Amino acid sequence: MNMWYTEKHSENVGITMRVSETLFSGKSEFQQLDIVNTLEYGKMMLLDGLVMVTERDEFVYHDMLVHPALFTHPSPRQVLVIGGGDGGSIREIVRHPEVELATLCEIDGLVVDKSVELLPSMASAIDGQHPKVKLHIADGLAYIREHQNAFDVILVDSTDPIGPAVGLFEKDFYRLVHGALKADGIMVAQSESPFYHAEIQKNMYRNLRAVFPLVAMYQAFIPTYPSGLWSFAFASKRYHPLRDFQRDRAARRNFHTKYYNEDLHSGAFMLPTFAKENIAE
Ligand code: SAM
Repeated sequence: MNMWYTEKHSENVGITMRVSETLFSGKSEFQQLDIVNTLEYGKMMLLDGLVMVTERDEFVYHDMLVHPALFTHPSPRQVLVIGGGDGGSIREIVRHPEVELATLCEIDGLVVDKSVELLPSMASAIDGQHPKVKLHIADGLAYIREHQNAFDVILVDSTDPIGPAVGLFEKDFYRLVHGALKADGIMVAQSESPFYHAEIQKNMYRNLRAVFPLVAMYQAFIPTYPSGLWSFAFASKRYHPLRDFQRDRAARRNFHTKYYNEDLHSGAFMLPTFAKENIAE
């Protein structure tokens, strides 16, 4: 089989992977969804032609979106994920015994359905059976407008700022998230690549700082995302990701994490100079 899938990261650079078969290809009212089998990264989900998750490297993204916030907040009982229809973030959240309810608000039901059917290693906790998981198929913007002062942690696991996700990178959205969080809440959002998306990051972190008292970027290595250098925005109403990090609780956790650990938690917030300078106030 000599079929290759290429995602362009700029006009002249991209990633290309050999594909053995297409498992699903279809269009929802929001986007084109493809799930293919690759020879080296396992099954891969694409939305509008962009890599969302692969079986081989999704552990990096889902570990790092979820665990820094849940090991910084002293009692993360109510956790909301906006987007995240592949289920990987919810899978990591419900591993924390402190979590009472993990709510998923995903705008596209087709993503959830096909993830449950074809990506069970990620979607195991969103198949409708997990007692601690509540699933809403809705626009995250509308959902948090109706759920103010409700969550300890909100994780924005969205697509890039295009299509239905464009509003999830703007100041009004961050104000709504701030209101949906309790007085000591924490928000984390995937914040693109310092290498390819400097302008998006500059605006995103300026918007976050206009709303949250405490904002920090942290990094992770995700080979199938543009340049591999990826980032997350930690925005907090009270707790600092390093000073208030619950290191002992993280070190004593009763579950294995393939990427995250209590040393990496702190190390991830140390940034390359160019990335730090780009978002400096
Ligand atoms: N890890 C991936 C990344 O970093 O690009 C994200 C994966 S997850 C599949 C992204 C999800 O965000 C998609 O399923 C998409 O439908 C969802 N999404 C986009 N805009 C949304 C919105 N306004 N409300 C809720 N979900 C949204």
